[in-house]
Amino acid sequence: MVRELDHWIDGKSVPRGTQSAMTVTGPFDRRPIARVSLGGREHVDLAVEAARRAARAWGDRPPLERGRLLAEVARRLRERADEFVEVEVAETGKLVTEMRGGLQVAADYFEYYGGVVRALFGETINLGAGDHAFTSREPYGVVAMITPWNGPLTQAARGMAAALAAGNTVVIKPSEFTSSTTLMLARLCEEVGIPPGVVNVVVGEGPEVGGPLTEHPAVRLIAFTGSVVTGRRVAETAARRLVPAILELGGKSANVVFADADLDRVVEHALTICTGAGQQCAALSRLLVQNEIHDELLERVAQEMRARIPGDRLAPMTTEAQFDKVLEYFDVATQDGARLVAGGRAAAGALAAGRYVEATVYAEVTPQMRIFREEIFGPVLAVSRFATEEEGIELANDSEYGLVAGVWTADSARGLRVASRIDAGQVIVNGGRTGIETPFGGYKASGLGREKGFESLLHYTQLKTTVVSTR
Ligand code: NDP
Repeated sequence: MVRELDHWIDGKSVPRGTQSAMTVTGPFDRRPIARVSLGGREHVDLAVEAARRAARAWGDRPPLERGRLLAEVARRLRERADEFVEVEVAETGKLVTEMRGGLQVAADYFEYYGGVVRALFGETINLGAGDHAFTSREPYGVVAMITPWNGPLTQAARGMAAALAAGNTVVIKPSEFTSSTTLMLARLCEEVGIPPGVVNVVVGEGPEVGGPLTEHPAVRLIAFTGSVVTGRRVAETAARRLVPAILELGGKSANVVFADADLDRVVEHALTICTGAGQQCAALSRLLVQNEIHDELLERVAQEMRARIPGDRLAPMTTEAQFDKVLEYFDVATQDGARLVAGGRAAAGALAAGRYVEATVYAEVTPQMRIFREEIFGPVLAVSRFATEEEGIELANDSEYGLVAGVWTADSARGLRVASRIDAGQVIVNGGRTGIETPFGGYKASGLGREKGFESLLHYTQLKTTVVSTR
């Protein structure tokens, strides 16, 4: 079935009319799966205007009421999990098990922010008798959200839940390759009783929709997830307009493994590079291994990667451009002199109809090589070796990115010491579990601001100080 995707503005589907549309082909067999309206400035104007009109009343509602509506979004998302999972799997190519997990995370965002918004307080400030000073956290108004194709539902839910809980209204532009679940989520918001105009979706391409959206004078905050190149452009617009931007960009994150680490757990964790076929900003795509255990760990990881058979335990690339990009990096790695240990090709046979690549491991990767420095966004591990703790830290930090890092050691003092020296927004020691509650975002080129956790709620509000004379 080819899905017809139109904008969702002010509580209504806005049909395409004579406007042009784009055909999206699926990752499994490259057959058409959706026709997406190609929106433009006029749709952005309509959506932002609807969001602006709805902002005051929504922001004035007691947090308790907004929170209850968001909790209901979470409940219905879980109730309709199968439908959401099926649609997003068809568009992104994710494994069903991965997407089932993603659906729960999306629901958790609504549940979490629907709850914690009731703990969002200001402070009183003691200026002495005669003046009463206090702070309050107020919504910005209209928030523009731009999301990429790799995790459309969770990424939309992450920003939307926090923004809406804080009392903002939202205009969201999903990637044109994966717009369906964002549109479904917007409808679901309407179904639970969130008023028209509070959530709007404009579909279409980046420059035609994302550009005008970030430029719109009524947009007071921009939340962008995607590549560094586009993130920079969005940041330039935000700087010119003097509006804040939350930027969640890419990564080239390192797992630093010391000789005393529990290798069974390291192997299991290293294989998370295959989650979403490596199309995740948080992927730990560099494996830095201390000399003493290098050969053993490399062999064990390579063996597991070979067992990740595409189509069975490994998802395809979501877009054709991403498929081409990963194949290009296979050539780049060879030209740069990395040693191929597993994979390194597109999947052959019947799977060649889809956008499958093999789970891939390169060894002897040095900082001069492009696969050490550049985000591939595929199931590709770059393995490097180091001798001392100092060298391990240096290699981990030798990157323009700083999103996530892993540290593996049986020495907990060393674990904490190394974590404190790594330039990344999130450091995971010995496979520690992160959650909705843990703030997430980048150091260096990986971004600005934080999503997730209570911190995110603060980002979606502005602080007002009020002083009343009691004299
Ligand atoms: P982009 O950064 O181009 O896309 C992300 C979002 O930004 C999409 O919705 C896109 O729309 C939109 N966009 C594009 N141009 C503009 C613009 N001028 N103004 C506002 N919004 C715009 O990422 P790509 O999809 O091109 O992916 C390229 C690479 O980026 C990947 O290979 C990966 O390395 C990295 N990436 C990182 C992600 C992360 O989570 N950190 C997510 C996605 C990609 P449209 O899709 O319509 O062009």
